Parts: sequence; C-alpha cells; structure tokens
Amino acid sequence: MKYLSTRGDDRPRGFCDILLEGLAPDGGLYLPARYPRVDEATLSRWRALPYAELAFEILSLYIDDIPAVDLQRLTRETYSAAVFGTGAITPLKKLEDGLYLQALSNGPTLAFKDMAMQLLGRLFEYELARRGEELNILGATSGDTGSAAEYAMRGKKGVRVFMLSPYGRMSAFQQAQMFSLQDANIHNLAIEGVFDDCQDIVKALGSDLDFKRRHRLGTVNSINWARLLAQVVYYFAGYFQATRSNDERVSFAVPSGNFGNICAGHVARMMGLPIAQLVLATNENDVLDEFFRTGRYRVRGSAQTFETSSPSMDISKASNFERFVFDLLQRDGARTAALFGPLLAHDGGFTLGGAEFARVAGYGFVSGRSTHADRVATIRDSWQRLGVMIDPHTADGLKVAREHLQADVPMLVLETALPAKFADTIREALGREPERPAALQGLEDLPRRFKVLPADAEEVKRYIEAHCS
Ligand SMILES: *Cc1c(COP(=O)(O)O)cnc(C)c1O
Repeated sequence: MKYLSTRGDDRPRGFCDILLEGLAPDGGLYLPARYPRVDEATLSRWRALPYAELAFEILSLYIDDIPAVDLQRLTRETYSAAVFGTGAITPLKKLEDGLYLQALSNGPTLAFKDMAMQLLGRLFEYELARRGEELNILGATSGDTGSAAEYAMRGKKGVRVFMLSPYGRMSAFQQAQMFSLQDANIHNLAIEGVFDDCQDIVKALGSDLDFKRRHRLGTVNSINWARLLAQVVYYFAGYFQATRSNDERVSFAVPSGNFGNICAGHVARMMGLPIAQLVLATNENDVLDEFFRTGRYRVRGSAQTFETSSPSMDISKASNFERFVFDLLQRDGARTAALFGPLLAHDGGFTLGGAEFARVAGYGFVSGRSTHADRVATIRDSWQRLGVMIDPHTADGLKVAREHLQADVPMLVLETALPAKFADTIREALGREPERPAALQGLEDLPRRFKVLPADAEEVKRYIEAHCS
C-alpha cells in the first residue's frame, strides 16, 4: 500500500515512511492510495477472530513494510487483557433494545486515545530501533492527549517525551495521572501559563528548523495516519458483536472533536463494513455539526471556542476533517488544497453547495449537538434509569444518538472516556463521586515528577537540550 497527500502530492510513500511524520510536505494529510474492499467471505472469517488477530488482519491490508511476524507480535502485545483490562478489548454494554455502548476506555488513561496510542508507542519503538534512530516527542496538552502519549511511550527505547501542560490548570485526576509517571524518558513540563502558551511554545520550537533537526523533535498529534488506522479496528469489532450475520447493518454515534475517531469509521465504511449511519456528535463547539447540516465549514477563533464540560471536544477547527473532504471531492487534491490551504486561515471557512454537499448523505453522515444541560440530563437519566454511569463526552454521543435511531438498526455509542476523569460534572449530575477502577485508587497520593518552567520558549529549549540524550 502506498500513501499520498490530500493536497495532491502523490509521490508514493510506504507506511513506515509516514509513520514518524506529521503533515505531508505540501501541508496535506496522508491517506492510502485506495481503501481495500473487504468481501463477504473475509467478513465471515474475521467475525470469529479475537481483537488482536482482527487488528493484525486489518493493519496488514495497509502495512506491507513490516514483516508479518513482527506486526503480529506488536498487535498481540498491544491488544491484550493486560493493557485493556478485558479480553474483549472493546466490549459492548447494552443500554436498551437496539442501543449499546462500545467501551473504548479501558486502557491505562481511561480514554479512547489509548486504543491507538498504545499501538503507536510499540510501532515507534520498533521502527526507531530498525533505523538506529531516536525521537524526542514534543507536545502540549490540556489533559487527555498528553497522558495517552505518555502512557504509550513510557519506558520505550529510543523515545523521549517532553509534554507541556498549563501549571495548576488540569483536573486533579489528570495531573495525578501524568505527574505520577516515574519513567526516565517522560518529562512533564508544567508551564506557568495557559494551554495556548504551551501550544505557542511547541509551535515556536517546531518552526526553529535547526533546533528541530538537531534534537530530532517529532509529535504524536491526531493527524497521524497510524493512529487513525488503529481506530478502524474497533468499528469492525463493534459490528461483529452487535450482529449475527453480514447482511445486518449498524450505526455508530461518535463524540467528536478533531474528527479522528469518526474518520476511522468513514474508512471502515469505505472498506465495505455495513454501516448505516455515522452519527457525529459535537458539544457547544459545533463547527462540524454546522457543516453536516448546512455545508458550511466555518473555523472559529479562540474567542468563539467555548470551554465546556466535555473539554476533549473543545475545538475551533477539526484537524482530520480534510481527509473526509478529499474523499467527498472524489480525491481532487488541487481542490482540497484550495479549500484547506492558506485561504482557510484567511477566509475562515468555505461552503460546499449543491451537488457536492448532496453527496455527503451517501457517506452515511448525520450530526447533532449537545449542550451542558443535555450532558447533565443524559448522565442522570442513564444512571437513574439504566444504572450505567457515563462520562460527559459519551453523554454527548448518547444524546445525539437518540435523535437518529432507526428501526432494526442497532446503534453503537462509542464510549470515549470513563466518568472517573470528570468528577466535577458527575458530582453536578448525580450528587456523588464517579466510580473509579480499582487499579487507580490512591492515584493522587503517589509521588509526582514534574518541572515547573516559565512560559518562555528559550527556557524550554534549554531544558530539552539538557535532557535529550
Ligand atoms: C479526543 C477525544 C474526543 C474527540 O475525538 P476526535 O478524534 O478528536 O474527534 C472525544 N472524547 C474524548 C474523551 C476524547 O479524549
């Protein structure tokens, strides 16, 4: 399988060529040259497979530059009960007839990002060893992504993580989760500032090309193709659990921010998985809901980006959305470049009209939005009526899922985090503390390892220079 850029650069690259990269040189995102189609006989064979073997089969269709025995070892190590707490890896929980939760949050950081990041950590270690190279991952986080990256890379050879977070501004649980890591290759840099300051520092260091090259800086952001590919697997796993035969269809409801999770659903559907609807749920930051209702994609500034109680969906633009639009425009790279290139930053958006927008329905997408009041009501209803405690992001998904139920089509709501991570909203909705997995009791009492630095790119540079070899 070869990979090309959504902005037209089609010099063929293999999976391992793009594994450690971010954007393509032309500013686009990488996609496979085509989506392999999965036929009925293959679906039937896959239905019986344990998760790790299913992952190996799907990944093999997209990765031909890692020997099969190695890829199989990596998927078996990743998708194990030891990492995800259950042999089913992403078990379904029935809510009501025809309505299920698919648990994606049983990894080490209790959010679905572990599903991809745990594989990425092992892929990075493998590929860096093969090349005899090292990589220093630099990132900024306000919570989920940073902790998933750290838990994926901890103890991995050839990789160091320098993660910037706003000092004192993450939730108590998130701080405890990140700062309690004692691994020598993980560096928590608590910046005296807000999240935007952290992000500005990461950008400043990333655009200092000399510094970047000398210190082998890289990232693990949500546009990485390997992350997206890993997420394709659980759509198949959910489908097989909810159906008995391959002539049945299911729908997925996906709490969305950067469009990474639901884009994996789009890929699964393009491969031939019988998905009726891909239900996109946003919170008050409804950039994507607006597009799927109207055809208008209107990027927001920071003043119009709200801080909500489902914070991992607080985005002003959706970094993976370009991948879907590229497919929607029948893979016209020049057109995609025109829509997403410098003009987007300048104009703040675009509108697809007429025939182009009409095609969206053919890809199965529908959407809706959820507010804080919806979230709280949905958490309360699920707990009181169904005895299931859900987190605020999953609540957004469930709220919108109910608006798109179809007779005889099971609806799978992707559970993207566990309630333990968002105690404030759970207290508000239920008047009690969230449930917490036994392994994480006493997390706040563990010793912490982090370095406080001023919001100054030069200071961060000096720290990295002193610790990156
Ligand atoms: C990252 C995240 C999301 C949004 O996923 P995208 O891939 O960015 O659309 C939703 N819920 C939780 C809990 C997350 O961590």
